[in-house]
Amino acid sequence: MTHNFAMIGAAGYIAPRHMQAIKATGNTLLAALDPSDSVGIIDSYFPEASFFTEFERFDRHIDKLRRADSGEKVDFVSICSPNYLHDSHIRFALRNDADAICEKPLVLNPWNVDALADLEQSSGRKVNTILQLRVHPSIVALRDRVATESKDGKYEVDLTYITSRGQWYLHSWKGDGHKSGGVATNIGVHFFDMLNYLFGDLQDNRVHLATETEAAGYLEYENARVRWFLSIDARALPDTCRAEGQRTYRSITIDGDEIEFSGGFADLHTRSYELILEGKGFGANASRGAIETVAHIRGASPDRTHGEVHPFVA
Ligand code: NAD
Repeated sequence: MTHNFAMIGAAGYIAPRHMQAIKATGNTLLAALDPSDSVGIIDSYFPEASFFTEFERFDRHIDKLRRADSGEKVDFVSICSPNYLHDSHIRFALRNDADAICEKPLVLNPWNVDALADLEQSSGRKVNTILQLRVHPSIVALRDRVATESKDGKYEVDLTYITSRGQWYLHSWKGDGHKSGGVATNIGVHFFDMLNYLFGDLQDNRVHLATETEAAGYLEYENARVRWFLSIDARALPDTCRAEGQRTYRSITIDGDEIEFSGGFADLHTRSYELILEGKGFGANASRGAIETVAHIRGASPDRTHGEVHPFVA
């Protein structure tokens, strides 16, 4: 059975991964929306798709498809818009009798999750979120290890992620805390969700550093104690990386051992879509732990007197 898709935010960086996933799973993109018309990429995947720069015209078109007998009703809406618009775009999907597949972070605040979970219940439609680290083979293996290993005490985890961004970042919606949630939310949510998924419920959450470009802190889970550091500033890169011209540094150590997961990222969106189409997607409630974590981090004042401080914090 093939499904019809619509897409919101089709001109952005991540949209082609969704187009690729729709195509690779044998489905069709019927219509796309983006206020920016730099969407030539659509031709590489779905040249027949309708395209709109105005929400109202897109809305009219999706509604027409829903009411017509052509069998072209939209089944899924893929949402690749800026973070602060996600909940509105999810409501649009569900109101049109479609399921939503929404990029991370699903929403910025826990109360937005509550509202979406209620809407899932009342509409009978599903809200799926892309949490692609949960389907990464190395993380799946690690989860199996943590679940089966008998261990005295908690794992000691260091998480370091430096992904250099140019000047544009702070001038875009990603640099606006009201729109992206800031670095810990926008970049970190993947990792906080992964930690929750691997190590159970969060018990303590301390913030040691919070600037426009960097964040760090300490998290304690049922089964792990975590020192974390995130940065989009190339100056934070270790010298060895810089010498090799690398702009990204990613390291997770558990009890001092490095977890290898530098590869395996290429088709995680397609893998996520496969699971969603099998009815095994991650729903609104699956995101709750990570959304609560980032919302707390956003509201906290940095204070280094509690929790262990990551070695990269100057
Ligand atoms: P982007 O800025 O490149 O793209 C966002 C697009 O949304 C732009 O084309 C913009 O014109 C469009 N847009 C803005 N307002 C809109 C509106 N009202 N209606 C419809 N479209 C609108 O950003 P991006 O990097 O592609 O990020 C998009 C989403 O994907 C974000 O939620 C981001 O957090 C997420 N993301 C996820 C990953 C991942 O690894 N899963 C990676 C990057 C980004």
